[in-house]
Amino acid sequence: MTSINTVLGPMDTSEMGFTLCHEHIITTSSDVRTTFPNMIDQLSTVKLAVRDLSKAHSKGLDTIMDPTTHDQGRDVVALIEVSEKSNVNIIICTGTWLDIPRFFWDADPDLVADLYTSEIENGIEGTGVKAGFIKVASDVGGITPQEEIVLRAAARTQKRTGVPILTHTCASERIGDQQIEILKDEGADMNLISIGHSSDTTNLDYLTGLLNNGAWLGMDRNPKDVPGTANDQQRVETIKSLIDDGWAHRIMIGHDWDSNIIPHRTEMRKQREANNPDAYSYIIRRFIPELKNLGASQDDINKITINNPRGFFEGIS
Ligand SMILES: [Zn+2]
Repeated sequence: MTSINTVLGPMDTSEMGFTLCHEHIITTSSDVRTTFPNMIDQLSTVKLAVRDLSKAHSKGLDTIMDPTTHDQGRDVVALIEVSEKSNVNIIICTGTWLDIPRFFWDADPDLVADLYTSEIENGIEGTGVKAGFIKVASDVGGITPQEEIVLRAAARTQKRTGVPILTHTCASERIGDQQIEILKDEGADMNLISIGHSSDTTNLDYLTGLLNNGAWLGMDRNPKDVPGTANDQQRVETIKSLIDDGWAHRIMIGHDWDSNIIPHRTEMRKQREANNPDAYSYIIRRFIPELKNLGASQDDINKITINNPRGFFEGIS
């Protein structure tokens, strides 16, 4: 048992229940909330999130991990409201996504780790809400020098606090391999690392390599959201192959959904909702039944949705 931070305060890992490992509520950019608030319809976004998360909660969802960082417009106050009204536990993060502040570019990773550690131990933006995990991101073309600073800072924060790291990657370019190399170089605990967006690929050689290095896999983009990546059927089949190879105990699952109502992206929102009318309930309503059709057992499903997210926070091997 381990105590973890949610937006409504500390919670024991035994209370996490059915957990999705990568879901957003509101994502914008750094400063949008305070400087350009009209760029997002905050009230409608919160209302939609409460509606869709409540629906998922009624079908069995208990907890989400929200990897929205400061540079993605993390909004702690809104998340408190969404959690209270939907009855879904929300674990939020420190760390940085791809929009790394210039201030970090020449910073010592230890200084950045001080900032992350404070968000875990003291809280975020004076709200008293503490971060429950650390997010890092690396994408197309490999890890930049700035991203390396964030990765090293994340590893040092993990070592200081025992809080796990969740990554954003470009799976087709095997960026998870590069992340692991740096995290290992820092001596990070691999049992507290999940390599995310791993469901974008069907490359079992790559995925098994990450697992053999001791990391968890975040199979966290369902249904398909990024052009040129694995289709929905392939996403289910890849997880089934990993289960068949004995990896059911190291996989987590999610949608990478959000509830953003952004005036200049109305068309994009319509397309996303047409692609996934189930919102945060797609995994429960569509994905898990399909996984069972392929032969996955209820025990496999319980591992992926209940035991593994808990084990990730507990750092079990
Ligand atoms: Zn995401």
